Amino acid sequence: MNRSHNLTIAVSKGRILTEALPLLTELGIRPVEAPEQTRKLILETAKPGIKLVVVRATDVPTYVEYGAADLGIAGKDVLLEYGGKGLYEPVDLKIARCKMVLAGPKKEAKLNRRLRVATKYIKTTRDYFASRGEQVEIIKLYGSMELAPLLGLADRIVDLIDTGNTLKANGLVPLELITWISSRLIVNTAAMKMKHELIKPIINQLEQLCK
Ligand code: AMP
Repeated sequence: MNRSHNLTIAVSKGRILTEALPLLTELGIRPVEAPEQTRKLILETAKPGIKLVVVRATDVPTYVEYGAADLGIAGKDVLLEYGGKGLYEPVDLKIARCKMVLAGPKKEAKLNRRLRVATKYIKTTRDYFASRGEQVEIIKLYGSMELAPLLGLADRIVDLIDTGNTLKANGLVPLELITWISSRLIVNTAAMKMKHELIKPIINQLEQLCK
């Protein structure tokens, strides 16, 4: 874990970072260098002792679980997939909102085999179909899920949608809402105890800001 008077916050690159920065700035946690103008991965902030680290979305819970970062900001999609070991998830920041959906072609021929679902959200998809008592074949992809039904790799996909434009452009439609997604503040469980006086005010302020 980091030294007791220091805090490290891991934030997902991209849309989550863009939407989290105004919130962090409200708390005085403003990076001294603009993240998009530096190649540094560790950013000092205007608050002495508080650093931001900018990492891949799926790595945020790992940094926080192992205490390499005390706090993190990650999408619920990533947290559902990770499984939430050794982490608290005290605040829904209500940023980077979107939906996780099951999607597929508008029309499809009747299948005489098990449904094939392509996704990068293997665990969430397995849990979703298990809760409905349906047996499906899940195919792991790392990106561009929309392509899978077009090339006959899968019958359906599980993916995030925001405007729905990507699905539409590829002749797909949302079929079922699996869950709403937004970014969450996560906290390392040991840091929550050892650095309570540093972390609690951040949780309280974010709760107020994101009501
Ligand atoms: P859209 O065309 O606006 O529905 O956006 C769909 C594409 O953006 C898909 O490739 C999604 O994986 C991605 N996407 C949408 N919302 C988010 C989000 N909050 N976080 C990460 N990826 C997203």
